[in-house]
Amino acid sequence: MSHVMNTYARQPVAFVRGEGVWLWDSAGNRYLDGLSGIAVNTLGHAHPRFTAALTKQIGTLIHCSNVYQVNEQEQLADKLCELSGMQEVFFSNSGCEANEAAIKLARLYGHGRGIDTPAIIVMEKSFHGRTLATLSATGNRKVQAGFEPLVTGFIRAPYNDLDAVRHIAQHNANVVAILVEPIQGEGGICTPDASYLQQLRQICNENNWLLMLDEVQTGIGRTGKWFAHQHTGILPDVMTLAKGLGSGVPIGACLAAGKATGTFKPGNHGSTFGGNPLACVAGLTTLNIVEQDRLVAHAEQLGQFIRAGFTTALQGVTGFREVRGMGLMIGVELDKPCGDLVKQALARGLLINVTADNVVRLLPSLVISQTEAQQLLDLLCPLIKEFLQS
Ligand SMILES: *Cc1c(COP(=O)(O)O)cnc(C)c1O
Repeated sequence: MSHVMNTYARQPVAFVRGEGVWLWDSAGNRYLDGLSGIAVNTLGHAHPRFTAALTKQIGTLIHCSNVYQVNEQEQLADKLCELSGMQEVFFSNSGCEANEAAIKLARLYGHGRGIDTPAIIVMEKSFHGRTLATLSATGNRKVQAGFEPLVTGFIRAPYNDLDAVRHIAQHNANVVAILVEPIQGEGGICTPDASYLQQLRQICNENNWLLMLDEVQTGIGRTGKWFAHQHTGILPDVMTLAKGLGSGVPIGACLAAGKATGTFKPGNHGSTFGGNPLACVAGLTTLNIVEQDRLVAHAEQLGQFIRAGFTTALQGVTGFREVRGMGLMIGVELDKPCGDLVKQALARGLLINVTADNVVRLLPSLVISQTEAQQLLDLLCPLIKEFLQS
């Protein structure tokens, strides 16, 4: 019997080695990785330059403490701010912790404005993590059930509904921020109207609220821009990152700009591991390789290629609804629950994920080649067709 706590319904396969978009299991079978550990392995597996940089850092300095200067942290913060236009960064170890930092920052910002019970607007079908504050912010009852009492101070609005947000603005003087994903990942690759973020920016400006974007899944080139909000031309006050930032080494970040900067003072927040030299070299090396190899533009191109491939193969097939997403964050919506596809794809050597019951989700590494993208389509399209016809 396993001594690991039973928190995941795991597939019966264990991977022992990877290279690029390929993984090998303990029996020697090869798989095309269309999931990248849920948008984590930005550079694929065992990327030679990434491996070399990390190996060097492991032999130099893994960890010191945040009570000292951490040069690698300064460098990664500089690079993230250069790429995003944000101004300062707090480093954590995960996405939920990055969002915890954002939530704490918003509350502190509110208290600074004389609001004793600050509230944050969050969305239906959102996902922000599994800590008590972030599961309370999450718009999914399954994530919350059994963990009551929830953290208070969140007001929920439907996603992509500006009138709902304006209504809250008129009726609640305690709101200090909006926390929202530019594209809802766990919610089913839901892309809002093109002007949604711009309008939220406007509402935040009018009310002196912080616009806080959860880019934990959409960040680091995933959607064909460094950060998904860059498709819209706006700048958030707070942005959170994690998944793809360290290419597999745990790291998260909470970035602030404009009126959100300078909110935290020494003693307000912290993390033992957050932003240690190893994690920051993983982040820096990821960003440098993505930049040098022009992987953001590559993600845009390959995303278009894959989405066009799905449309061509599945158009008119009964039960296929639509393919959506941006860059290499892709969802294929079917008209029925399709969780069984995960096992069927695995049996054919392909790793995919299903989210929101009926959306096949693909988050391949940014290093995927066109040949490999075609292989992915050749494996998955017939499988979806068979599934819909059965
Ligand atoms: C995955 C995810 C999180 C949580 O990240 P963890 O590292 O698992 O804590 C938060 N927000 C979004 C949008 C995510 O996709």
